[in-house]
Amino acid sequence: MLTDSHCHLCDMKGYSLNPQITYFTCGYSHETNINTINAYANTPKKNIRILLGISPYNIMKNEKKEDGLEDEWIEFIRKNANEKNIVGIGEIGIDYQYGDTQEKRAGMKKGFEKMVGLTEKLNLPVVAHSRKAEEDVIGILCAHDVRFVLHCFGGTLEQAEFAIENGKDVLISVPPIRSKERKKIIRRIDLSHLATESDAPYIGKTPEATAESVRQIAEYKEMETGEVEKNVLENMERVFE
Ligand SMILES: [Zn+2]
Repeated sequence: MLTDSHCHLCDMKGYSLNPQITYFTCGYSHETNINTINAYANTPKKNIRILLGISPYNIMKNEKKEDGLEDEWIEFIRKNANEKNIVGIGEIGIDYQYGDTQEKRAGMKKGFEKMVGLTEKLNLPVVAHSRKAEEDVIGILCAHDVRFVLHCFGGTLEQAEFAIENGKDVLISVPPIRSKERKKIIRRIDLSHLATESDAPYIGKTPEATAESVRQIAEYKEMETGEVEKNVLENMERVFE
C-alpha cells in the first residue's frame, strides 16, 4: 500500500485510480481547488483525501493584490475546508527561485503567512512547498499551531531537524528523486517523521512513482519496503487525523 502525500490528480486526465495507493491530492489555484472537489469530493475518504491551496506561483501571478490572494479564493477554501474528505490546506508555500524581485518575494511571503493563519483557524494540517525559502517557510509554520508536511523537501538536514524540533508535528516528504543531502536526511531523521510522495504529474509521472520514494527509505534505513509503507501511512494518518 503506497501513500502519496502530494500529487495533483486534477492535472491527470485519464489516470485510473489504483486501489493500492492512498492519495493526498492538492489543489493549487482557485480553479484546481474547484476541479478537485468536483472530481473527488464523493470518493471514499480512505482512498482520496483532498487538500485545497493557492500555490506561490498563483500568488505571484496575481499582481492585483499585495498578498496575491483574492477574497473569493479564500472564501471558497473556508467554506469547503471542513467538508467531506477535505483534510488539509496545500499546496501552499514560498518559492524564491521564481520570485526574482523583492516585491514578488514579499508578496509570496505575505500570501503564505495569510494562508497558514487561515489554516490554524480552521484547525487543519498543511502541505507546504518551499524552494530556496526553507528558512522562511519553516519559520512561519513553526510560529503557528499547525501540523505540517514539507513536500519534496530540498533543504538541509539541519533545517529538517529544526522543523521537527520546533513544529507541532512535522513530516519530511521524500520525492522519487535521489540526492546526496536527501540520503543524509533519510538516514538521520526518524521514520516517524518521514513521508513519501510522487508530486505527479510534475516530478513523478503518476502516483505509482511513490514506490521509488519508498525504495530510497528502505535502502538507506536498511528496512523492508513493506515496513516503510506501513509506517509512512501511519505518519500521514497521525498528522491528518
Ligand atoms: Zn505539487
